[in-house]
Amino acid sequence: MFLFIPLICGAQNFDSNYDSNPAHQGLYCPKCHNFSVAPIKRKEFFTFWYIPIIPLYWGKQLRCNICNWRQDFKNEEELNRVVNEQKNFHNGNNNTSINADSYYQK
Ligand SMILES: [Zn+2]
Repeated sequence: MFLFIPLICGAQNFDSNYDSNPAHQGLYCPKCHNFSVAPIKRKEFFTFWYIPIIPLYWGKQLRCNICNWRQDFKNEEELNRVVNEQKNFHNGNNNTSINADSYYQK
């Protein structure tokens, strides 16, 4: 007798904190304009029977935990560049109109 076994495929995400450095938390989000962006380590796998088989994505991202905005970054240097460019926001030096979106685009 042949037993029908449903094949369960899918994709599963594994997000974890990039680090616990407070300077890397609460970055400006260009989408929802909250200071809610933090770096994460993200792994996304194609799963078969809930077992991760094929990595679809493996890297570092900036993620907004309010609107779920994401952007890849390659290394610590790139992360620090974003952090440094945002210091003006936290210091309140935003008298001039700053186009924050440009910080995320090269
Ligand atoms: Zn956001």
